[in-house]
Amino acid sequence: MDSNGVAETPADIRREIASLEKVKAEIDHRISALRVRLTSYGSVNGNEVANSSAPRPEQTLLSGQLSPDMIYRYSRHLLLPSFGVEAQANLLKCSVLVIGAGGLGSPALLYLAACGIGCVGIVDHDVVELNNLHRQIIHTEAYIGRSKVESAAAACRAINSSVQIVEHREAFRTSNALEIVRKYDIVVDATDNVPSRYMISDCCVVLGKPLISGAALGLEGQLTVYNYKGGPCYRCLFPTPPPTTACQRCADSGVLGVVPGVIGCLQALEAIKVAGAVGEPLSGRMLLLDALSARIRVVKIRGRSPQCEACGENAKLTEEQFCNFDYEKFTQSPLSTSPLKLHLLPSEARITSKEYNERNLKGEAHVLVDVRPSHHYKIISLPKSMNIPLASLEARLSEVSAALAREEGHKKDDDNQSASLYVICRRGNDSQRAVQYLHKMGFASAKDIIGGLESWAHDVDPSFPTY
Ligand SMILES: [Zn+2]
Repeated sequence: MDSNGVAETPADIRREIASLEKVKAEIDHRISALRVRLTSYGSVNGNEVANSSAPRPEQTLLSGQLSPDMIYRYSRHLLLPSFGVEAQANLLKCSVLVIGAGGLGSPALLYLAACGIGCVGIVDHDVVELNNLHRQIIHTEAYIGRSKVESAAAACRAINSSVQIVEHREAFRTSNALEIVRKYDIVVDATDNVPSRYMISDCCVVLGKPLISGAALGLEGQLTVYNYKGGPCYRCLFPTPPPTTACQRCADSGVLGVVPGVIGCLQALEAIKVAGAVGEPLSGRMLLLDALSARIRVVKIRGRSPQCEACGENAKLTEEQFCNFDYEKFTQSPLSTSPLKLHLLPSEARITSKEYNERNLKGEAHVLVDVRPSHHYKIISLPKSMNIPLASLEARLSEVSAALAREEGHKKDDDNQSASLYVICRRGNDSQRAVQYLHKMGFASAKDIIGGLESWAHDVDPSFPTY
């Protein structure tokens, strides 16, 4: 019996099911069509996507500055009374350029993308290498050999698809600096060399951009904000470049991975404060991190210098002067990260790693002095080499003489040649310095092995580890 009291048969029930299913199919079809129409408004899971350019009729009914999706995503920022909707809205309107997608840039970029900076630019010309990954945490093994900018941009987009990520896959130079920096509100210096620091600071002065500057080396780091609301620029503090021997890089001196991680996070924090217009940015002060002793100090630094050659009262740097300035010459230091290659010796005072290998295999009587620091020697060394670090060569010359005398004693009787003296280091620079000194001290036959252990690994023994 149905609800009207009319007798029904199984055939009636089947007919009714068929009819309802037809209605249901029509409703499903209408729901699908409506969903498609909704996606053209940039809606995901019922909430608007931030950067949709399509009209958003629902949003006009809301009185706040943020879309429902943004309110949900950034809710923990909005709950902070000292940050709130205003600062978050400031971030969304702001653009930040990060120069360098390495140890400092990695955490800085991750946080800048995550926190909702409207547009994040990334400059780098390098590719991801295995020995980057202990500190450059934005990159993964899957990106080894590929562009750092491409890798970092993919990571940023994966975290926050509503942020505009701009890729600048090029080296930052005076030829492109103004054009790139002009498009952004704030600059983060995440590079690792002195000429870049001067160039980026000068560029920010010329274009009037605040600069969040960080540095990390070994177990120490530092951080400050330059060119912010009348504060000093890098040149105000360092009018003349430091001596080249003081300019070390991570590739030569080493760095504990988490140290640039800490400084890079703090750079993101300062950028967020400047972008959000909250708190007291670290201008006119410098934060110093000593990781080993777990000490963080903030020291007051000199204010803007009236005599500064970039931002001083009488010497405002122009765009043209900036473009023509030779930062490598000024700092006596290369802009590129490729290692220094010295040429101190005549060719007769040098042999290739292949030649050395052949002489060694022939049983030539010789002494091989490895002049790297002892902690390098502990990583890996060639058999039969003796370690006398360059810094202690002067004090240990007698050991070289003694080793040569021992070799003379082991020589075959028919060998009239005196024992040879070879010097090796990591890349072939210190070994040249050592050979220059040895020649001066009377070891006339001393020869440098060109390109050091790196060339040994490249040309003689591919299984020999590099670092
Ligand atoms: Zn200045």
